[in-house]
Formats: sequence, structure tokens, C-alpha cells
Amino acid sequence: ESLTVGELAKKLRKEPAEIIKKLFSLGIMATINQDLDKDTIELICSEYNVEVEEKIVIDETNFETIEEVDQPQDLQERPPVVTIMGHVDHGKTTLLDAIRSTNVVAGEAGGITQHIGAYQVEIKGKKITFLDTPGHAAFTTMRARGAQITDITILVVAADDGVMPQTVEAISHAKAANVPIIVAVNKIDKENANLDRIKQELTEYGLVAEEWGGETIFCPLSAKQRKGIEELLEYILLVAEVQELKANPNKRARGTVIEAELDKGKGPVARVLVQHGTLKIGDPIVVGAAFGRVRAMVNDKGRRIKEAGPSTPIEITGLNDVPQAGDQFMVFEDEKKARAIGEVRASKLRESERRANTRVSLDDLFQHIQEGDIKELNLIIKGDVQGSVEALRGSLEKIDVNGTRIKIIHTGAGAITESDITLANASNAIVIGFNVRPEPNARNMAEQEQIDIRLHRVIYNVIEEIESALKGMLDPVY
Ligand code: GDP
Repeated sequence: ESLTVGELAKKLRKEPAEIIKKLFSLGIMATINQDLDKDTIELICSEYNVEVEEKIVIDETNFETIEEVDQPQDLQERPPVVTIMGHVDHGKTTLLDAIRSTNVVAGEAGGITQHIGAYQVEIKGKKITFLDTPGHAAFTTMRARGAQITDITILVVAADDGVMPQTVEAISHAKAANVPIIVAVNKIDKENANLDRIKQELTEYGLVAEEWGGETIFCPLSAKQRKGIEELLEYILLVAEVQELKANPNKRARGTVIEAELDKGKGPVARVLVQHGTLKIGDPIVVGAAFGRVRAMVNDKGRRIKEAGPSTPIEITGLNDVPQAGDQFMVFEDEKKARAIGEVRASKLRESERRANTRVSLDDLFQHIQEGDIKELNLIIKGDVQGSVEALRGSLEKIDVNGTRIKIIHTGAGAITESDITLANASNAIVIGFNVRPEPNARNMAEQEQIDIRLHRVIYNVIEEIESALKGMLDPVY
């Protein structure tokens, strides 16, 4: 039995950073995803006077708890998985098309490209996987379902337009997920294109160009004229190299659903990304709450393939039901087991849909804090003007009640949008509207997902409300 640092932190109800520090003081350098052996776990537990007696029960119906210890020698480099985000009309779709077509690998020309939710290109003998639904909504919807599949974000900013509201949203979404950003300054062919202005504007959001002493790569390009695309791909490889992305291809496959639908002819089809192991035709598989045997696999070039390794996007058929985007899949040793686990998952799913899911709201915040679930309150602030948003941010960031920190994960001027709710959902955040209201569809979504939205007109009232909530002194609203 082993646990990663992150999982151990969760079990001990400590911040991962604290565990990492503790490990460091014991002379062990570790990262959050690192597996710890039994002895180390015991050592850490004894530091916190916790007995390691409860046997870690492996719940096979919950894929997230299934431990897989890969030996370093089993790990192999895998292609990075890239998402393209940015403001509408800044050229995300054009860029995705440009990348796809720049790179029709010799010998593969003639293959009919097939939409399977993602595609792969090859440069300098290395592959890169692009998710081809542009935008941060898809990205964060998946994250809200517990699926983190993106390694790198390309932030597209039009050189003639500059930083716009959805640019800022995209930055917040990528940062909330801890995914590195490469800035693609697009439309550089335009007469009024101004690269320096984009660099300048983005410094305000913590994206400082390397040539200005920062750490962010800015890649000027023209998606329309297909210029600068190769450079962008090379930058992606560079960032991927630093990340040391690895996976073990020699085990049963696991991964995530990118999209799924019911096809009239083929039945349920799932477009999935393999993240660990290798998926093969005939594999008994559980996908979300659906199960079956992989009947056929088709790649992004429209070819039937027999197996797919880490970071490969493919379309599979053979399931008994249509899963959902963001669902995890996993291969089991035999079909009987896959069926049994699929059925348990399906009934659990129905159960949890019946039960309201646990969301933070200001009303029960204090309880969560006391139970140690929450050390940090995530907030999204939307206001009528940027000035008041900033004022509010300044005051809120100063709040410190018994060590609970306020973390502002996104701010913006304008109404509360669906994107705000999606982000709140993925990051368990509360949304504050200052002199603004939610858009109708955002309101509906918030109700559905039970996201707490607080509307105010006076800064003082916001501060007071948050402080009271942190102290457990919020007056109940009837
Ligand atoms: P998206 O909404 O971000 O997906 O943007 P699109 O890819 O649909 O592009 C919006 C518009 O910008 C389209 O009319 C594109 O032809 C145009 N466009 C995209 N890239 C470039 C570029 O590099 N240069 C110029 N001049 N126009 C571009």
C-alpha cells in the first residue's frame, strides 16, 4: 500500500505543502504526486501522532483510490496534452486548424481526419496532443468532474485587440488548475498588430515575457497565414520537456472521456484520452458508469487501430451506455469484473445524483473550517467596474480569521456568467457579485450545481459577511 503526498495530506487533513515541508525536514525531497512507501507514511503519521492502523481499503469502484505504483524504469516519456484558450474571435479555431494541417505526417496524407475531440501532430519526431474543443468552458467542465488532462495551455491573444474579458477568464482557469501557459500572440500579420502592447497588458496578470525578465513564453504568429506555427510547436515541446511528462505504457489502460454520444449505427461511442497504460481491442472496460469490451478503436486520422498508448486520443465503441465528458475509464482483467464494477458505479451515480453534493456555501463555511475540510476560501469577484472589483479584492485579501486564507481566483467586470459558475464549481468557490447580477443561464447553472452567489452593493457589507462566515457568526437567511 502506498499513498501520494497529496493523498496522505488529505487523509491527515493537512495542506500538501505542510507535508512536503515535513518530509523535507526529514531529509526527503518530495512532490505532491510522489508515492510514499509504508515506512515514510508511518514516519509522517507519527509526527502527527496518528496511528497507521486503518488499512487502506482499495475501493475498486472508485478509480481515484486505486493505487498504481510505477517503478521509475517503467515510465516512458509521453506526449503533452495541450488546450487552446482565449477570447472569442482571437483565432483559437483557426490556430487549431493551422496546427492540424501544417502537420500532415508524410505517409499519412490522405487519411480522412476525423473529429474525435482531440488530435495529434508530430514535430521533430515527437508527438503533441491537442484537445480540439477550444475555450476554457470545456476545460473547466472536465476539471469540475475531477479530470485534469491538460498539461499546457495555449493562450491566444489577438495582437490587434489585446487582453479581453475571456482572456482574463482563461488565465484564471489555467492558473486555478496549475497548468503552465504559453501565450500565442495571433494575427501578427495585421497592420495594427502590437506585440509589445500584449506583453505589457499581460504583465498585469502575472504573465511576464521571458525577454522582459519573466518566465512566460510569448510566441508571435499568424494562424491565418500559417506563420509561426512550428515555433509554437517547438515551444510546446520545450515546456513539456521541463515538465518531464511520463507514463507507464505497459499496463492496463486508464484515462478520461473527452466527449461521448449515441451514434445511430455504432451505438454508444466515447472519445477518450488514454493517460496510463495501453488500451487494446477486446479490453474489458468500465467508462464512467458504462461498461463493455472495446469493440473498435479509431484514431484521429480515421484509421482503425489495435492499441493506443499514453496521451493518445481515440474513439471507442462497445459500451452498454453513453458516458459523460470528464468520466474516467479503466480496463479490468475480465469482462465479468468490468460488468460488476460498472453496475456498482452506475447505482452509486444514481445515489449521488439523488443526494445533494457537498458544496461550500457561506452558511456552512464555519462547519467546514472546524472539521478541517477548508483552510482556504476561494472567491470569484464580479463587479460593475474594475475599480470597485480591485478595491474589494484589496480588502478581502486582508481578511485573516484564525488562519483561514481568502484566495481570489478570478475577478472581472460585468455580469456573473456561466464561465464564472463553471470555475466556481471546479474550484469550490463562492461568487460575489458587486452591483452586478448573474445572467439567467448562469443563475440556473448555479442553482443546479449549488454554487453560492452573494450579491452586494456596499463593499463594507461584503467584508462583514465574509468575516462573519469565517467566524461562524453568519445570520441564517430564511
Ligand atoms: P475563435 O473564436 O477564437 O475560435 O476565432 P476564429 O479562429 O474563429 O477566428 C476569428 C476571426 O479571426 C476569423 O475571421 C479568422 O479568419 C480571423 N483570424 C484568425 N487568425 C488570424 C490571423 O492570424 N490573422 C488575421 N488577419 N486574421 C485571423
